Amino acid sequence: MRVPLLDLHAQYAPIMDDIKAEMDKVFVTHAYKLGPQVKEFETAIQDYCNVQHAVGCASGTDALVLALLALGIGEGDEVITTPFTFFATAGTIHRVGAIPVFVDVKPDTYNLDPTKIEEKITPKTKGIMPVHLFGQPAEMDAIMAIARKHNLSVIEDNAQGIGAKYDGQTAGTIGDIGTLSFFPSKNLGAMGDAGMCLTNSAELAAKLVQLRQHGENPQYYHRWVGLNSRLDTLQAAALLIKLRSLPRWTEQRRENANYYFQHLADVPQITLPYIHPKAQSIFNQFTLRVENRDGLMAHLRALDIGCAVYYPLSLHLQECFQYLNHSPEDFPISVALSQDVLSIPIYSELSREQQDFVIEGIKKFYN
Ligand SMILES: *Cc1c(COP(=O)(O)O)cnc(C)c1O
Repeated sequence: MRVPLLDLHAQYAPIMDDIKAEMDKVFVTHAYKLGPQVKEFETAIQDYCNVQHAVGCASGTDALVLALLALGIGEGDEVITTPFTFFATAGTIHRVGAIPVFVDVKPDTYNLDPTKIEEKITPKTKGIMPVHLFGQPAEMDAIMAIARKHNLSVIEDNAQGIGAKYDGQTAGTIGDIGTLSFFPSKNLGAMGDAGMCLTNSAELAAKLVQLRQHGENPQYYHRWVGLNSRLDTLQAAALLIKLRSLPRWTEQRRENANYYFQHLADVPQITLPYIHPKAQSIFNQFTLRVENRDGLMAHLRALDIGCAVYYPLSLHLQECFQYLNHSPEDFPISVALSQDVLSIPIYSELSREQQDFVIEGIKKFYN
């Protein structure tokens, strides 16, 4: 048996004809730049995420850059974020000229530890960028309380958390701006790159719309310097069709997670993911903390079971951030996680037989 980490063949097989039909409409009109499917998809995401405004762009990374620019964050400003995340989170803060200020994560949820944020706030701090890692929202009530108290902007990096909830609110709609990524392996993946900003502020939405087209309004007149970062019409067409399946896909991921929770609970060498009582995860990843991680990974790969380390190097130790002068001990939990996490297959189309094979494979390794 083969169990990939993600199976796009299985995901696309039942919907490919519908996607091609929607794309064929674009090939009739040739409206490649901000065609009708873009607006249609933005509106559909507004409904799905229960938010006033959705502004499509070219990637989840660009969505973060646009959010930072829209909030006026740049040269010399400080933005507080987590070192245990995909690179783009801190990379975009640096890219706009600001300084990523890391705060360690919690060992159980792997998300930003709100109790450690206030000690990092300085007069230069402009924002907080929590990440809803692996599909579980960070503790947004505590983060928003700190942000309001210190008058800071909040950008939710919700690349991995489309449709997740925190205390009844949809992830990505709680802060000033939330972002989405439609990278192919995200829960809602494009056939290439795409991203989006979410906000309940009409003013920020209008600014984002301008910033994604070089900050122009009206055409050829520029109040700000933005990017060329539109959501491609063909990607919007595919995403529009795929969004219909997302509620079912999310439900299946949750069922798969429950199955692992039941059947891996008795393995002492494994710590299962912990979901905060106020959080509802969409399980973009199912990430364990394990003993002898590299041994287990080699064992599973030999059995043709897909698994991966998200993420092997805490961001404060990346070569490009040497100028921040961090040592490993600065964020010990992030470093410990980078050494013992392992993500195993959780995708919607995973069969029970495949999941049993993963569970047996893990148990065999430790016996
Ligand atoms: C995927 C991801 C991004 C970037 O999204 P792209 O669409 O690949 O640019 C940003 N942040 C996090 C946490 C991600 O997982």
